[in-house]
This record gives sequence, C-alpha cells and structure tokens, in this order.
Amino acid sequence: MAKFRKIGVLASGGDAPGMNAALRAITRKALDEGMEVVGVVGGYSGLIHDEIIPLTPRAVSNIISRGGTFLYSDRCDEFKTEEGMQKAIATCKKHGIEAIVACGGDGTFRGATDLTNRGIPTVGVPCTIDNDITATDYTIGFDSAMNTALKMIDCLRDTCESHARCNVVEVMGRDCGQIALFTALASGAAAAVIPEIPFDEAGTIARIKEMKADGKRGFLVIVSEGVFTEDGKKYGEVLAKKIDAETGIETKFARFAHVVRGGDPTLRDRLTASRMGVRAVELLLEGKSNLVVCEIDGKITDLDINYALIADRNYKNKLKPGDLEKFSAEEVAAMKALAAQRHEEMLDVYRMVAETSK
Ligand code: ADP
Repeated sequence: MAKFRKIGVLASGGDAPGMNAALRAITRKALDEGMEVVGVVGGYSGLIHDEIIPLTPRAVSNIISRGGTFLYSDRCDEFKTEEGMQKAIATCKKHGIEAIVACGGDGTFRGATDLTNRGIPTVGVPCTIDNDITATDYTIGFDSAMNTALKMIDCLRDTCESHARCNVVEVMGRDCGQIALFTALASGAAAAVIPEIPFDEAGTIARIKEMKADGKRGFLVIVSEGVFTEDGKKYGEVLAKKIDAETGIETKFARFAHVVRGGDPTLRDRLTASRMGVRAVELLLEGKSNLVVCEIDGKITDLDINYALIADRNYKNKLKPGDLEKFSAEEVAAMKALAAQRHEEMLDVYRMVAETSK
C-alpha cells in the first residue's frame, strides 16, 4: 500500500461553489492520515511558477461555507506544453510533492493525466457548475449554481406576473444545457432551450400565445449560453425579440453570466465535496491514481480519467480518430450506453417542462 509523505492540492479551471469544501476535506483527511499537505496557488500555473504554501488544519478553517477557491484558480496554457509540464514536475520534486489531488473540470483532468504519466500520481475531483462531466452523475457546484439562478429567476417571475411580461434568461453551461433545463423545470418556465435537443421555436411561440389567451400573465424561457443562431449570434437575445414581436407580450432579456458561479455552496455541494475529497485521498492511500472521483447512483466511486474523458467526448460527439481504440469492446459499449442514458435523462426532463407549463 503506497503511502505518500507529502501531497499537493489545487483548484484549476472554472471555479465552482464547493471547491473550498473539497480542498478542506482533502487537506484535513490527508493530514489525518499523517501526510504533509501543500496548496498549489492558482491551479497549474502555481506548479509552473512555484507558488506552493503549506496547509495545516487551521489553513482550511472557515472555508467550507465559502464560494470561490481560497487557493485561487487559473487557466494556464503553458501547462499544456512539454516545457511547462517539466517546470511543474520540477516544482513537485523541489517540494517533495509525491502526489496531487486536482479539483476542476475536464481540462483539469487532462492535466492530471499528464502529471500521472510523468511520475506524479494524480486524482481528480469533479468541480464544475455545468455538471458536464458525463461519467459522473454529479459535479460539485451544480446545485449551488442552479439555486442561485433559481433565486434570480423567481425574482423575475414576480415582476413578469405583475406586468404581464415574458423574460428570457440566459444561464451558463457551455455545451451542456443542464443548468437551463433543470432551472426551467424548477421555475415553471414555459420552455428550456439547450444545445442537446433541437428547439421548436414556432411551436413554443404558438404555445405562449395560447397560454396568454388562456389568461396566463407571466412567462419565463430559460436558454443555455451554448445555443447559437445559424449566423453565430447568442440565441437567447434573438429569441426574446422574436417572442416580443410575435406574441405582443413585452419580453425582456437577462444574462446571469458569472453571477451563478459565486456564492455560498449549498448543503448538497458541501456534502458531495466532503465525500469526494475524502475519497480522493483514500484512493491515493490505496496506491491508485489517474482516477476521477465520481458519484454514480448516489454512491461515491471512481473511474479511470482517460475513460471518463473519452466517455465525455463520445457523449458530446467530439470523438477524435483513434479515441476508442484504447478501450475494450465492453468499455466502448458502456460509453455508448452511458451516452444514451444521459440523452434519455435530458429528454425526460425536457418533456416535463412542456407538460407542466400549460
Ligand atoms: P476545466 O478544468 O474547468 O475544464 P479548463 O478546460 O480551462 O477548465 O482547464 C483547466 C486547465 O487545465 C487549463 O488551463 C490547463 O492548464 C489544463 N489543461 C487543459 N487541457 C489540458 C491538456 N490537454 N493537457 C494538459 N493540461 C490541460
């Protein structure tokens, strides 16, 4: 059983509420197991520029309830180069960092694989508000981001109802529409517009007109930021103008943007972050690495990072030539089944949005 003397923790890529709770759990669990722990400041760029700080139990006091990340985060292109990677490895050697737990999204996990392949065993903890890592049912930050969005959508609902208006709201999610879809269902929106499912614009506008004729006053439509018009414009703003013109309902547009990335993590995110953080350290203690901690059917488990990354590309139709060759027929079949399952889960909720907003 491999036991490391010293490990590093870092947060990388887009921040997410609950990252602090994960960093805290990783630090405290590793310290409890008798390891030294250091924090890498500013994600992978901190490894390149040798920004390493010692972490004690007190260093992670009072952060479980805070959004953002106390170690800061960064996007670091230099880390993708061999030269940058070698600088990162040199920093690990200099400080005696024998393993790393990296909190972030799919980009962060690609970096984690590179570190593992160069002799620094690394485990990933999925932190991204978008819930866009196909292999895990849940990523830390998703619930908090949705609750923040929902609070603001509820505010718009009040004023839409008062003034008989429609509000089209754009929420984050890159190429994953889950924040839009779930908040649409939870806010009683008339429709969700997401990249994964073709949107029936004419049908939705007709339905809004029917609901107006039936006496409905306020309308909400939630659009994911990853939906664009054919000529590359953000769809939410375009749709707002169309609804306004075609229904006669005064329609406003709101973009929540990065607001939903901040704020206090919800109980769901604190719990998941704590459980995943502890599990990440346990995996290292078991001598395992190049894994991403996952939540599958309510259980905290783990998957090979390469498998998780390719399963993700398969679901998003972004496979590159040769991607599937490294995997067995059973693994490829499992990826395909997972993609079908994810699509079905989205379709189910999508139908419910229409069925419950009459
Ligand atoms: P996220 O982890 O939230 O998906 P990014 O995609 O920006 O965010 O990735 C975070 C960081 O991970 C990048 O800035 C870079 O330092 C590192 N990274 C991303 N892709 C790779 C890659 N292919 N190889 C090595 N490192 C990568």
